This record gives sequence, structure tokens and C-alpha cells, in this order.
Amino acid sequence: MALVLKDLNIDGFERVVEVVDEACGLHAVIAIHDTTLGPALGGIRFFPYNNIEEAITDATRLGKGMTYKAAMAGVGFGGGKSVIMVHPQHKTEALLKSFAEAVNTLEGLYISAPDYGCTMEDIKVIRGVTKYVVSVPGDQGSGDPSPFTAYGTVLGMKATLKQLFGADSFKGKTVAIQGLGSVGFKIAEQLFWLGAELIVADPCFEKTQAAKRCFGARVVSTEDILSVECDLLAPCALGGVINSRTIAALRCKAIVGCANNQLLSDLDAKALKDRDVLYAPDFVANAGGLINVSFELNEEGYKPQNARDKINQIDETLTKIYELAEENDCSTQAAVLSLIEYRLKHKVGKREEAVYFHELVGV
Ligand code: NAD
Repeated sequence: MALVLKDLNIDGFERVVEVVDEACGLHAVIAIHDTTLGPALGGIRFFPYNNIEEAITDATRLGKGMTYKAAMAGVGFGGGKSVIMVHPQHKTEALLKSFAEAVNTLEGLYISAPDYGCTMEDIKVIRGVTKYVVSVPGDQGSGDPSPFTAYGTVLGMKATLKQLFGADSFKGKTVAIQGLGSVGFKIAEQLFWLGAELIVADPCFEKTQAAKRCFGARVVSTEDILSVECDLLAPCALGGVINSRTIAALRCKAIVGCANNQLLSDLDAKALKDRDVLYAPDFVANAGGLINVSFELNEEGYKPQNARDKINQIDETLTKIYELAEENDCSTQAAVLSLIEYRLKHKVGKREEAVYFHELVGV
């Protein structure tokens, strides 16, 4: 058989599999972190890692983050992630199909979804081989998660404003957005209508010019965006941007963005607290997309209203985390990690009903 799956022994993970199919050039890692609350749900990332170690590090880091995100969102899923070691522009249909075969062999322990470099077209190809994939376009599928992620992040911003100023109005408040991609640009648009002043940065000139023209945003360089004076800073591009170097230069009151893994290390959360910068744990603020795709797997089938109602709880969840951090005089990251530990230990939010894979129409 061309497809080879090799189990890797990684501490703290239920299963990590290296996947190789030399015939089509597939080399991937599927990391299943924790399925205490339900099957592991998490995206497929395409990236030209230099070596397998880098791929394992990324897959495990992201897979763990998905356990946290799902546990806090209360969607009855666990966390996992897959990374495919190829530049997004170099993937082929044969590679996608072979990867889907690998997902199939895990028999539903891991359910895949789009992440960096994965398009809706790719998801359609994968769905042709395996049912263990969500965010599928067409009837019964939830399609592009980015509008839901953006909406949830804005709710997280409102909860943060309430915590900082006692009211959630954006009038007279400045938000600096790093990255105007699928989610960042939608956040900018919503904030514009809510009355916020915007500062934006993106290496793509067309995107920054569109934000300037449509929302009156002030454009700054990608070097300067993290240190501009603002009320809220929204990292919406890359991970690891909040670190010992950038924290020293911050001039914001709080950080709320959609990017995954914004903190380079958990220690950075303590440094933010010491600098009196309120941090909205990213996996809580950006859970809208995950919540949305999770509704594809319910018995009644995907309904955007159900996803919206659940996403509306992000506000309350974040407020609870802020209160807990205050009561315990700890960082918000420490507060949320203690909540997650409790939920996993006591199986709070464990999936009771079966996962439904609906026949898809119009794909
Ligand atoms: P995207 O690729 O559409 O957008 C990323 C944007 O960031 C691009 O416009 C890119 O030009 C810009 N960028 C890159 N480097 C930059 C820099 N140094 N400074 C400023 N901008 C820079 O991605 P997306 O789907 O909008 O996701 C953004 C982040 O949110 C990622 O970290 C992703 O993992 C996370 N996220 C996305 C979703 C979702 O629903 N798409 C859900 C949860 C988390």
C-alpha cells in the first residue's frame, strides 16, 4: 500500500501519526491531543516545514490549543490538528485524496477542517474521500468559518471594553488590527459600524488601502502596529506576536484578536498582567469558527442561527475568566487554564449524543 501511517510517541498526546505517501509526495502529521470531551476536531494546515520535527512541533502545539478552545466553547469535542508539509500552492488533488484516506483510517477519532492554506475547494476534494471533515460548502455544510470567527472576536472585544470601562461602547475607542485577512478585515468592518476608530497594518497594500477608503482606518507599518497607542490591540495574523520583546513596547489597554497562539509562551501572560494589559485568551475570543463548524455534526443538521446563539456566549465566558483572574490575582491565561483543567478532569461538557455525518447535497 502506498499510504503509510506511523504512530509517534509524544508525551501528553493520545495519538500522533506521521503520514507518508511517496507516490503523491504526501508527508503529514496528525496530532490528536485529547478526546475526553468528544472526537478531536481541528484544522488542516499546509506549510512547507523544513523538517518533520518542525511539523510535529506545530501540529502538537496547535492540537493542544484546539482541546482548550473546544473545552471552553462547550461544543462536546476534543482537540487535534493536522499539518501537511507542502507549500499551499504546490498541493495536488492526489495528495489531498491520500491525506483524506489517512483521516479515514482513524475512523472518526479526528475530524478535519480548514486551516492555513486550505481552501473550500480542497475541503470538497477531501469530502469526496472521507466524511470526517467539516466546514464543507453546500447544503448541510457550514462553509467559510471566518464571518463567525470575526463576530465572536468582536463579542470578546465588547466584554473586554466592559471590563475596562464599565460599558461596551466602541464610540471614542481605538482598535489596532494586525492583519486584514479573511477574519481581520471582517472585524474591521464590524468595528467601523460600531463606531470605533481603526488603525491597521497588513503587508498587502490593497487590503490596507481598502480599510482606509471604506472605514477611514489609519494605516501604519507592520513593524509599528504592535506599539501604536490604542485601547484594544487585535492580533489577527500570526502566532507568537506577544512576547518579551513586543510586550515592552505595547501601548494598548487590552489585547483581543483572532490569531491562534498569540502568546509565545504562557509566561508572557504574567508579563502582560504586570504591565496592566488585559489579555483575552485567544482560544476563547476566536472560538466562533470552531463553534460554527461543530454544528454541522448535530442530528438536526447545520443551522447558522444555532451557531450564532452559541457564539453569543463568548461574551459571558470571557467575563467569567476576567472575574476569576481578578479574584485570584492571576493572569487571564492562568485563570482559563485552571478552568480547562477542571472541565477535562470532571468531563464538563462531554458529548452525550452521537456525531452525525449528514449526506451532503450541492457539493
Ligand atoms: P488570512 O491568511 O486570511 O489573513 C492573514 C492576514 O495577515 C493576511 O492579510 C496577511 O497579509 C496578514 N499578515 C501577514 N503577516 C503580517 C504582519 N506581519 N503584519 C500584519 N499583517 C500580516 O488568515 P485568517 O483566516 O484571517 O486568520 C487570521 C488568524 O486567525 C490566523 O492566526 C488563524 O489561525 C486565526 N484563526 C482564523 C480562523 C478563521 O475562521 N479563519 C479561526 C480561528 C483562528
